Amino acid sequence: MSRDPKYDILFEPVEIGPVTAPNRFYQVPHCNTLGHGRPRAEAANRGVKAEGGWGVICNQETEIHPTFDASPHFEGRIWDDRDVPQHRLMTDAVHEYGALAGIELCYGGLHAPNLYSRIAPLAPSHVVVHGDYPLQARAMTKRDIADLRRWHVDAAKRARVAGYDIVYVYAGHDMSVIQHFFKRQYNRRGDEYGGSLENRVRLAREILLDVKDAVGHDCAIAFRFATDELRGPDGLQAAEEGREIVALLAEIPDLWDVNVSGWDNDSATARFEPVEGYQEPFTAFVKSLTSKPVVGVGRFTSADAMVSQIKRGVLDLIGAARPSIADPFLPRKIDEGRLEDIRECIGCNICVAQDMMAAPIRCTQNPTQGEEWKQGWHPERIESAASDAAVLVVGGGPAGLECALQLANRGYRVNLAEAGDALGGRIAFESELPGMSSYARVRDYREYQLGQKANVEIYLGNRLEARDVLELEIPHVFVATGAHWRRDGIGRQHAFAIDGLEGNDRVLTPDDLFAGAVPGQRILIYDDDHYYLGGAFAERLRGEGREVVLVTPAPLVSSWTVNTLEQEKIHARLLDLGVEIVTAHELLGVETGAATIADVFASSHRRRCEFDHLVLITSRAPKDELFTALDAEAGRFATLRSIGDCHAPGTIAAAVYDGHAAARHFESGEDVYAPLYNREIPALD
Ligand code: ADP
Ligand code: SF4
Repeated sequence: MSRDPKYDILFEPVEIGPVTAPNRFYQVPHCNTLGHGRPRAEAANRGVKAEGGWGVICNQETEIHPTFDASPHFEGRIWDDRDVPQHRLMTDAVHEYGALAGIELCYGGLHAPNLYSRIAPLAPSHVVVHGDYPLQARAMTKRDIADLRRWHVDAAKRARVAGYDIVYVYAGHDMSVIQHFFKRQYNRRGDEYGGSLENRVRLAREILLDVKDAVGHDCAIAFRFATDELRGPDGLQAAEEGREIVALLAEIPDLWDVNVSGWDNDSATARFEPVEGYQEPFTAFVKSLTSKPVVGVGRFTSADAMVSQIKRGVLDLIGAARPSIADPFLPRKIDEGRLEDIRECIGCNICVAQDMMAAPIRCTQNPTQGEEWKQGWHPERIESAASDAAVLVVGGGPAGLECALQLANRGYRVNLAEAGDALGGRIAFESELPGMSSYARVRDYREYQLGQKANVEIYLGNRLEARDVLELEIPHVFVATGAHWRRDGIGRQHAFAIDGLEGNDRVLTPDDLFAGAVPGQRILIYDDDHYYLGGAFAERLRGEGREVVLVTPAPLVSSWTVNTLEQEKIHARLLDLGVEIVTAHELLGVETGAATIADVFASSHRRRCEFDHLVLITSRAPKDELFTALDAEAGRFATLRSIGDCHAPGTIAAAVYDGHAAARHFESGEDVYAPLYNREIPALD
């Protein structure tokens, strides 16, 4: 197939200062916590996107000087010449496919507590550092400012030697000292770098000009700038100072890379920004103030939306971080007229969560993400079948779908049996919750792909018992039968069953609600899971007009979503809806229609809550009866594996990954439970 001509515009080259991007697909800098600790993995991770057709591939926040470190995160590092070869790996991998390589020079200032160096962070004025660290940043002297300028120049020169085509000056996400100078809340200086906006922009102007002077003949200079902080008058606003800053610096950079700040707004999840191009209201003005090309993001996965951005003069280059993570081959698929093969980002921010936890990147939709070098996995290619075996996958949730798809891609004869009338497993239910419809993409992509394959048979409405499986006499069986929510209260807080739950018909689990149970008016949600379900059910049930109290032993509502950058937004939304949030409380016991809860740190502080229904979200138990029964006859199978939630309940990302890994390892001779990874081992010479 070939490209639809209406998308030709996306494949036009774009001049960026002294370099030319081969097309308009631009992977903006994004963290992956591979970085300087895992340079081979970093190079492979970026290289595969160049192979997939992205015209520009950037790295991530790159520490420019030892006085700033992003520890414990492994982002980029270009402190001195010894770091250059690492970057060379990345730029070579990107250049191999004709793409441009960009580096995001970064000085984190008060955003980084410098956990490695222990040096007091630098800031415009004396202010506390970001996060919960009991540390302060110190006000920069004029000498510090001169140093910072020189560090940028030196790092830019090293970046050029490393082969980068685009060098960033970074003022975004509230993570850069240059941006901190813009902000009155941090910049209380009385000298020429503080006070008026022109003064607060002086440092950015100087660094842009310095870097341009140093490497601007060979490299394009990009300015990454957050036009709006979405904090109203308490922050920088696109309509006011954001606009003025663009006007002040308009023609200095070769490229404007614009977004909104902080990271939670820029990488907003689908739950809070469901529409593609959600940053347009804050960034569309930029092109009217500069003749230089503009790149911006907005979780773009649709080629039509991208074309619209270009044609309407909003952007010149389509920026993407998450869409390039979910599908490194997105541009190629558009080019080849294979739109339905695009694996669209679902906006869940599992990728972000990994970085928040200082762990290497992963992705719900793309299980090969971060595994390109470590396990040699390619997002579009997989080892051919080692035999002409037939396989049976039982269960069509995320794990079963991915396992079946990859086994089919390998060329095996795949039979997929699903008890329900539709595929998707938990996706079918969870994607019905408020703001979560994009999660259906996990199912839809795989269901469509499986439907295209001649070597796949799907049997819906087929709940298989052990004897059915044995009768089929298929030697290779993958059991992906999922998990169910516990009714006994066992979870993080409680290792033993909670009194009064057994046989209590006022107690509902998520499974009951998904199956259509209609709860009464007064709802008590007990969330000991801490991810999205508790908050999402509170939102739904309150939205339907019920009174909702959400109790959680965690110190925050939906506490794990701190990592997906959703927690504060969930808290605000629930309060706006009128949900009562009770944190740091556990469920002590339940009677008919009432529960006793207690403070988790001071159990004598108790309270009684009346309810019509208690929604219990604690932990899940694998639905592994089928697997256990088959395992008793293991000798009759060449392969018998449980995968996904049936193996160990977890995130959708974990289930997809497990299904993928099972298919990769099948007939590979590798021990699936102890794979040998490629490891980055520091040389001790
Ligand atoms: P995972 O996240 O591990 O994929 P899910 O719970 O989302 O797990 O999906 C499990 C799927 O398996 C569900 O669609 C369920 O209907 C199906 N299933 C469970 N037991 C059986 C069975 N015995 N035979 C066929 N399908 C089953
Ligand atoms: Fe998109 Fe989720 Fe993958 Fe991140 S983890 S790229 S948000 S699908």
